[in-house]
Amino acid sequence: MWRYQLGKASVSRVGEMLTPGFEPEFLYPEFDPAVFDEDPQLRGPNFWDAATGRLMSSMQSWLVRIGHETVLIDTGCGNDKIRNEPAFKRFHQLSLPYLATLEEAGCKPEDVTLVVNTHLHVDHVGWNTRLSEGRWVPTFPRARYLIGRREWAHWQDPRGGPALQPEGVPAIEDSVQPVWDAGLVELIDDGDEIVPGLIARAAPGHTAGQLAIELNSEDQAGMFTADVFHQPMQIVRPEWNSRYCEVPEAAIATRRRILAEAASTESVLFPSHPGAPHAGRVKHTDAGLRFAPLTAAEIAA
Ligand SMILES: [Zn+2]
Repeated sequence: MWRYQLGKASVSRVGEMLTPGFEPEFLYPEFDPAVFDEDPQLRGPNFWDAATGRLMSSMQSWLVRIGHETVLIDTGCGNDKIRNEPAFKRFHQLSLPYLATLEEAGCKPEDVTLVVNTHLHVDHVGWNTRLSEGRWVPTFPRARYLIGRREWAHWQDPRGGPALQPEGVPAIEDSVQPVWDAGLVELIDDGDEIVPGLIARAAPGHTAGQLAIELNSEDQAGMFTADVFHQPMQIVRPEWNSRYCEVPEAAIATRRRILAEAASTESVLFPSHPGAPHAGRVKHTDAGLRFAPLTAAEIAA
């Protein structure tokens, strides 16, 4: 299992899928292949699949054990969900052993005390619910589900998320509304302490209400960066938004700010989608900011 110890907190990766995803030309409308020469690691097999020309794309949760809490940050795509949008066909009616992978990390669904959805896109809320006797029921029955107040409002407003990304509405209906209806949702704001050592930070742009989650333990720092960047190539080119970034100028400003802060604090970044080793730091180099993936020794279980 993938596990990183940050002070007294432990972070495990619960992988759902690791496959070639979008072509960089599709994901980044401003893509320029010169980025591969500027940072040759981006052409390596962990980040880019030469056979298909697609970016390696992970779907996953981060499982954080801190104090007495077991916190699941984002919940992947989920099984059995109907995703008819052509760009979402990778997520359509999946039947993947995510819960077995969670159990390999030593966690049963009823052990999860908190679920955090950094934002309400299809690939971050899927395992909030599972199909049981034809109904979507909460997968983590004892958890409180934490959702950003702005993000919730953004998707409740017909001119917000549903207008900007109509293909995202089914995920709200089958993966978010049922946990709301079950009374499990708690809305949170920028600066809220989720538990001692975990703080919600506004990270708007990819969606209007996206949150990043800061982790501090002893003298070490980490940040769960959600979709502030999808791929390490955006560390080299922070001005590149993905086609799914809803508020373009805010997305660029948030990306620049979080990357600059991470470089100065030497925080470990835990993003949502890069290929192995899935997490790392940001370093200043003569050529600009670069991704420094965690080493194999750092993520040994
Ligand atoms: Zn995502």
